Amino acid sequence: MGDCIFCKIAAGEIPATVVYENDHVIAFEDLNPQAPVHVLVVPKAHHENILDGVSAEELAEVVAAIGEVAKAKGLSERGFRVIANTGADAGQTVGHVHFHVLGGTSLGEGLLP
Ligand code: 5GP
Ligand code: ZN
Repeated sequence: MGDCIFCKIAAGEIPATVVYENDHVIAFEDLNPQAPVHVLVVPKAHHENILDGVSAEELAEVVAAIGEVAKAKGLSERGFRVIANTGADAGQTVGHVHFHVLGGTSLGEGLLP
């Protein structure tokens, strides 16, 4: 955890453009956006990914935070996509569970590019 970049963002030790935050979750702009809106929703407690002991309470906080992000970014009406890359085949590059919220354009019907 000492070297975890998202733990450091959650602790305010690394700057990020924060969209929403409470005691349990933080949502901030992705450094390398893949869509006009690309926000990461991150439980503050360290878990490697969604297989690593994320609780139902934390997931409920994540879902509520996604709603706040959608509201703040004007996505509630037009919609958006949520992705949680998990492990090697998904290409997970940051080992702290996070949910990509992507939108601001038509993302198409397919799940993959
Ligand atoms: P993954 O590939 O693990 O699903 O997604 C990791 C995401 O974290 C990537 O989209 C990457 O751009 C983003 N990211 C990596 N390091 C940082 C950082 O220091 N700050 C921010 N805001 N985003 C980051
Ligand atoms: Zn962490």
